[in-house]
Amino acid sequence: MIPTPFYLIDEARLRDNMRKIEQLRQRSGAKALLALKCFATWGAFDIMRDYMDGTTSSSLFELRLGREKFGEETHAYSVAWSDQEIDEAISYADKIIFNSLTQLERFADKAQHIERGLRLNPRFSTSGFDLADPARPFSRLGEWNLDRLHHALPLISGVMIHYNCENSDFDLFDQQLSRIETDFGPIIERLKWVSLGGGIHFTGEGYPLDRLADRLKAFSERFSVQVFLEPGEASITQTTTLEVSVLDILDNGKQIAIVDSSTEAHMLDLLIYRETAKFPQSGAHRYQIAGKTCLAGDIFGEAAFDAPLEIGSRVSIPDAAGYTMVKKNWFNGVNMPAIAIRQQDGTIRPVREFTYEDYLSSLS
Ligand SMILES: *Cc1c(COP(=O)(O)O)cnc(C)c1O
Repeated sequence: MIPTPFYLIDEARLRDNMRKIEQLRQRSGAKALLALKCFATWGAFDIMRDYMDGTTSSSLFELRLGREKFGEETHAYSVAWSDQEIDEAISYADKIIFNSLTQLERFADKAQHIERGLRLNPRFSTSGFDLADPARPFSRLGEWNLDRLHHALPLISGVMIHYNCENSDFDLFDQQLSRIETDFGPIIERLKWVSLGGGIHFTGEGYPLDRLADRLKAFSERFSVQVFLEPGEASITQTTTLEVSVLDILDNGKQIAIVDSSTEAHMLDLLIYRETAKFPQSGAHRYQIAGKTCLAGDIFGEAAFDAPLEIGSRVSIPDAAGYTMVKKNWFNGVNMPAIAIRQQDGTIRPVREFTYEDYLSSLS
């Protein structure tokens, strides 16, 4: 048995999401690239590779990881490439997508032998949180000026438009794609490919997958472009838990269970986006589940379990794959969670454990 804390990836659930991606690809003709900034746990790539077309990245290291550990089609994007990294980036990439006309013009010559693209910012999005809203005022993410876009056309074969964020509303997606068709159609029809980015929550329960597929196919046929999707969260949603143990139980006006993990170190997005973990709420035994760092607000959330907790009890913190494992850190020197995969036959296979040596080597 692996000691807690550890992230536990469920292979059967991961394959459920992967089959939806495959269904969407087959019906729509779109290609699906895993967005590594959301999930880069390469120990799971063997499970994912057969259902997806490759990876997309936001930096040189992600790009290299995608090339080396996932393979297949490898897209490179970065908000800004440096002179020092551009040659190496181009050596890994099948396509390179620049964030601005300036970057495109600066590096287009070097990237002549691969496909080049530009990020297009349609100036609307589905994000409700300005920290993560690519259409926020003065956004630096992509070009929207039609003159600049026309200027880029001779240098590119496609555009990337990332404007959705956990969007589970197909009708909204449909309307916004129509706006893109109207506003940018004359540009798109001169291109070979369009990436519509990530953020479409199409693996969620009840999502009208076939309607999405048909809409993507219609878009692709209307403009004669290859469509790409870059699912991050949708690829791995609901596949992984963070397994922790109760170390202490206090009653400071509320039952508080302290576990051998930490929001800031192991589930940082709960703090950044002011969310709480999705614990069961129906049982009779209520606890606040809190982390073991000295951060006063290190709280995973409120839970109501069917049975009382005891010291040593195991707690599963749901939905711990996306934007979670990629952000883990050594705050407070808390033991970094191991990584394990629950295989389809139920056996749990550890894929990585961390030790004091890893903590030591993370600083000097
Ligand atoms: C973040 C991001 C993605 C993945 O977004 P999800 O919401 O995780 O699907 C895809 N493409 C780009 C350009 C991104 O910045």
